[in-house]
Amino acid sequence: MYEHDVIVVGAGGAGLRAAIAAHEEGADVAIVSKLHPVRSHTGAAEGGINAALREGDSWEDHAYDTMKGSDYLGDAPAVETLCKDSPKETIQLEHWGMAFSRDDDGRVSQRPFGGLSFPRTTYAGAETGHQLLHTMYEQLVKRGIKVYDEWHVTRLAVSDEDDPEDRTCHGIVAYDVQTGKIEGFRARNGVILATGGLGQVYDHTTNAVANTGDGVAMAYRAGAPIEDMEFIQFHPTTLPSTGVLITEGVRGEGGILYNKHGERFMFEYGYANNLGELASRDVVSRAELTEVNEGRGIEDEYVHLDMRHLGEERIVDRLENIIHLSEDFEGVNPLEAPMPVKPGQHYAMGGVETDENGETCITGLYAAGECACASVHGGNRLGGNALPELIVFGKRAGHHAAGKDMKDAEITTGKVGDYEPADVESPVQLGEAGLGGDAVADGGATADLSGDEVVQRALDDERETIEHLLEKEDGIQHAEIRERVQKSMTEHVNVFREEEALKDALRDIREARELYQDVYVADKSRTFNTDLLQTLETRNILDIAESITVGALARNEFRGAHWRKEYQERRDEEWLKHTMLSWNDGEPELWYKPVILEGENKTYEPKIRSY
Ligand SMILES: Cc1cc2nc3c(=O)[nH]c(=O)nc-3n(C[C@H](O)[C@H](O)[C@H](O)COP(=O)(O)OP(=O)(O)OC[C@H]3O[C@@H](n4cnc5c(N)ncnc54)[C@H](O)[C@@H]3O)c2cc1C
Repeated sequence: MYEHDVIVVGAGGAGLRAAIAAHEEGADVAIVSKLHPVRSHTGAAEGGINAALREGDSWEDHAYDTMKGSDYLGDAPAVETLCKDSPKETIQLEHWGMAFSRDDDGRVSQRPFGGLSFPRTTYAGAETGHQLLHTMYEQLVKRGIKVYDEWHVTRLAVSDEDDPEDRTCHGIVAYDVQTGKIEGFRARNGVILATGGLGQVYDHTTNAVANTGDGVAMAYRAGAPIEDMEFIQFHPTTLPSTGVLITEGVRGEGGILYNKHGERFMFEYGYANNLGELASRDVVSRAELTEVNEGRGIEDEYVHLDMRHLGEERIVDRLENIIHLSEDFEGVNPLEAPMPVKPGQHYAMGGVETDENGETCITGLYAAGECACASVHGGNRLGGNALPELIVFGKRAGHHAAGKDMKDAEITTGKVGDYEPADVESPVQLGEAGLGGDAVADGGATADLSGDEVVQRALDDERETIEHLLEKEDGIQHAEIRERVQKSMTEHVNVFREEEALKDALRDIREARELYQDVYVADKSRTFNTDLLQTLETRNILDIAESITVGALARNEFRGAHWRKEYQERRDEEWLKHTMLSWNDGEPELWYKPVILEGENKTYEPKIRSY
């Protein structure tokens, strides 16, 4: 068994920042990651980091834009923390050597982004994430922080008291991709989940194949509530054939969207009369699909994004990467022709419920980055607000886990205080992961064990599960199950949602769960067994898909990225609340907790959101 003070699961922007912060506090910290750090998906981020750096801008304006963008489902203490700390953390990156783009006067450049009232998106060409990841990786190497890379974490080692609020996370179990060894890792102080996105729940996504929602699913099965899972961001400009992202920076620099009649539809049809193409992402995605549904799309599928008028010099200077992406993945040279684009799954606003210090309701379990929900993005994330979330909340989680004395959080976690029980009318039974022994809460069996024993017990259970998969001679392969879920989610739980389609998705997920009981791994080898790993990821996809769909079915309103055919308006009287889902003995339980709109100096009164 390996042992460290703090174990960070994941080596993207959030994980690296958390590890550096824990190290700053003197902790013995290690990162365990299924990918080498610089292959993490943060490297794909293109457009930039929002930070109120300039005269004329303020953290208060950034917070206002973020709350408005969230459709008033963000929690003010988290939103204000993000906006106050982002400038400092962005400057820290600059001091560590991040190669930001610069204006002629030498200042770090900033550009407009969707839903922002000030051009506050700081960037490094169209490779901001790549620069950020490499800058922080250098800091990691400089500090000699231990990385177990190509170790796939499959389970959290959490004690199993009845109430999740009484449980403690003592470590993790991970599978060494290179050798096939399954090992326990004991965390003396805490485990920080920084496992990123869950885009593989859909079949058209900007996310990498590694983004299978592992951290969210593992925390959920360990009893940590997951929050606002129904809020999935569909980015308006993805390439139709692959889902590859064309950054919002293109529209930020002045790129224009056209329908098949050459009309600038954002204005022509009144979708966003002020900001047009730079309205927030949910607004632009719905506008594009409305154009397609009303027969004004191109090939009944997509619209055009044109940036030719910006001129080659400016495009090469600020968006060079986009020329390559469009040429390589769609065969279109954007210097000569408009790019075809359509909405694609991009980001999860929800995730593991945390407070402003990254803590969950389980002692010693933290989450940061895209897998966490503090909640900063509420119903819709503004472009450029995810990267600051990584560096702000990654750092806070790292400091807290390492024992730094920090201000008590205002956000509460777990079922405490003012929570509201809920029912959802599901057409099928929910829950039960595909393989036995997945849920941690198995009746208090580990409640009285020492930390080492809890890790050993989790290790034994996980070895059994993996051996079972490797020994089974026939059955169904994960790819078939995964494909069914991805297709159903893309068809039924997309930008436009309606009750019957959501119920169809739940039926499909149920069927997929039943098939998963008979899943087997054809490749019996112990080294680099991607068949086995993807089979394990598929169980996460099942749990995540269900959590998104259940939340979407229950939320009878239209807020942010969640549009419902039957309820086409925001219903603040009933729905100013977070959707919470807890996994109790294999059965998901839905409940709600209130949104916090009271900030430090003001209350964010919900207003009609127009752009
Ligand atoms: C194409 C694209 C462009 C984007 N552009 C922007 C932008 O310009 N600005 C912005 O603000 N946001 C942007 N975003 C969003 C933002 O980049 C992501 O939300 C953010 O980078 C996620 O960082 P993370 O550290 O949470 O996760 P990631 O960077 O995805 O890292 C996850 C880490 O977890 C590890 N991991 C996962 N599962 C396991 C497991 N089971 N065991 C062990 N390790 C595991 C992985 O190996 C990886 O190291 C973009 C997103 C995409 C997809």
